[in-house]
Amino acid sequence: VERHNVPLDYNKLVLKNELVISRGLFLAKKRYAIRVVNKELGKIIDNNNFYIALYNKENDTYTFPFYKDEYEVVDPEEVFNLKDSITDYIRRTGEPFRITDAIANKLNKTKQIKSIGKPSPVWIGAPLIDTLTDSIIGVIAIQDYEDENALTDKDVNILAFAARNIGTAIARKRAEISITESEEQFRSLAQTATDAIIIINNEGNIIFWNNAATKTFQYNVSEVIGKNIFKLITPSLYNEKTYKGLEKLFKTGEGNILGETIELTGKRKDGSSFPAELSVSKFLKNGEWHFTGFIRDITKRKEDEEDLKEAKEKAEESDRLKTAFLANMSHEIRTPMNAILGFSELLSMTDLSDDERNEFVKLIQNNSNALLSLINDIIDIAKIEAEQLQIHTTEFSVNNLLENILKTYTEIKNNQGKNHIDINLNIPSPTKDYIIISDQNRVNQVVSNLVGNSLKYTEKGVIEFGYIIIRENNNDFIQFFVKDTGIGIPENKLDVIFERFRQGDDSYTREYGGTGLGLAISRNIAKLLNGDISVDSQEGIGSTFYFKVPFNLSSKNQHQEKEEESSDTSALDLQNKTILIAEDVESNFQLLETYLEKTKAKIIWVKNGKEAIDVCKKDDSIDLILMDMQMPVLNGYEATLKIKGLRPDLPIIAETAFALAGDREKILEAGCNDYISKPIKADLLYEKIKKYI
Ligand code: ADP
Repeated sequence: VERHNVPLDYNKLVLKNELVISRGLFLAKKRYAIRVVNKELGKIIDNNNFYIALYNKENDTYTFPFYKDEYEVVDPEEVFNLKDSITDYIRRTGEPFRITDAIANKLNKTKQIKSIGKPSPVWIGAPLIDTLTDSIIGVIAIQDYEDENALTDKDVNILAFAARNIGTAIARKRAEISITESEEQFRSLAQTATDAIIIINNEGNIIFWNNAATKTFQYNVSEVIGKNIFKLITPSLYNEKTYKGLEKLFKTGEGNILGETIELTGKRKDGSSFPAELSVSKFLKNGEWHFTGFIRDITKRKEDEEDLKEAKEKAEESDRLKTAFLANMSHEIRTPMNAILGFSELLSMTDLSDDERNEFVKLIQNNSNALLSLINDIIDIAKIEAEQLQIHTTEFSVNNLLENILKTYTEIKNNQGKNHIDINLNIPSPTKDYIIISDQNRVNQVVSNLVGNSLKYTEKGVIEFGYIIIRENNNDFIQFFVKDTGIGIPENKLDVIFERFRQGDDSYTREYGGTGLGLAISRNIAKLLNGDISVDSQEGIGSTFYFKVPFNLSSKNQHQEKEEESSDTSALDLQNKTILIAEDVESNFQLLETYLEKTKAKIIWVKNGKEAIDVCKKDDSIDLILMDMQMPVLNGYEATLKIKGLRPDLPIIAETAFALAGDREKILEAGCNDYISKPIKADLLYEKIKKYI
């Protein structure tokens, strides 16, 4: 020290410098801080070769944040293992040390300490002590490459003294850096969080508000910092219980709300509210309790829960309906089956009177028809589900259609022993007949279904049906109505009866049979025809169903020839005619044969398409073919194509089950002139044959 002309009272100077060192370290950034140490230290000790080694407890290594050497350069980021070095020795012992060449050699020899780097005549080092925690955080060392006396024992003392302050300052700086780092971490964490994070002090004033809080509550940070939480988001944010709980928590720092997740209603700046979930934790800051609240907007979750609940209820409901439907279906099939089988058996008895026989046949027919219409319904509903129900528009007379329905249902009504009920057809102006363009079969199906329902659900009074022309939104509709004085429909069932499988009475004690398909099918047909179906009803008084379709008038003359009048089909005489029946199932053939017997036509039977072609090639006396479409060897479609190639003028009528969508098109495409659906009715068969022969 004297050599450097430092005044004797160096303690003062050292103190002053240490103060600068400490302050410099405190204020400066990491790198710069070391430079301050270097500069200030240089004023009291010759420190041309000077380093600071910081110890990492975790992995027993060192880094050199500062390394100033005339001969060596060290990367401040590099990590060193200094086991058995003088530096490590000082850290371990906690003693400052001065090592000359001689001592170093001695130590080297005893293998106590290895010297590292370029040897120097003198080296002094002291432990860096953090006086706040009284721990050694590293080593500070100075060496001189020229003169052993350049660094004395006195310098060791100065260095040891300075090292305490430098150590403390470095430790403090490190802590400060780590606080800054963790604050930055917290900030980035809080700002990327999707939940609202709000910190309040023990008075309930907001001191932190993240981006998600702004999104959730619509208040900006500047609008809320320093404001009381309850002023902003009360009173409806918290329900009574939560509000009290939070108040108590803020006052006392205690409460069962801590660590819990509570649901409450949040209120946004615009006054709208939302369901929210809150969890609160507390922490001490400057000796006072502070609280961190996580608030999550759970609108979406609540909606999802609601949807899920609804879906579950729906699934359960449809499960219940399915079971009920199967039970109904079984009942609806077994009842007519029972009658058909029972009365067929009775028919085989010999001692029956003619009246009895006729009665039984009628019952078998009625029940078969019921079964058939059930099968038709099932196929229709399956087609509707598969979106394969097709519409085939034709031109037809509305009056004819309704008159036929009247005829059919009057007969059914009388068969059912409901003679006391009148069915009246009410046509606006009887002289006028409209020919409209729509799907005749489907319109017929819907109106028949409505009349059938009215008949089913009416025990006394009248059933009246007909149509009117109405105008809605500049469009004309023909609106059919079916009005009855039946049991009526409860108000809460007016909508559901149009859903599939749904019935007005779905109890096990229901009085009327049925499957709940009719109206569902009717509504779908109405929609497919660009129309609609609706009902007015009063329980115990009666119902009126309305079914409307667009009123598309045909360009045809209003006076349509009544060619469908098939009154004298029974007199069909085919004496010199030959009909070829291509049919593989014998019972089906027998039926046709029986139907045709009284026409006296000559009949040829073949069992597949190939045989049909062969016969046509040989026999040119054939006048008409009844062709089943599904046959072995060669089916009806291919046979028709071939035969039409040979004899284009030979009429072919297809027999079909119309099970699949597109069958009708395929049949006509193959070249058939017409088709007749199974089960085949005699009247219709005669009518079609008459048309072609
Ligand atoms: P189903 O008659 O086979 O039960 P529908 O779909 O035709 O099926 O009818 C559904 C329900 O609507 C019926 O179960 C019945 O409760 C009610 N309904 C239909 N038409 C009438 C009517 N004219 N009078 C009273 N109730 C009716």
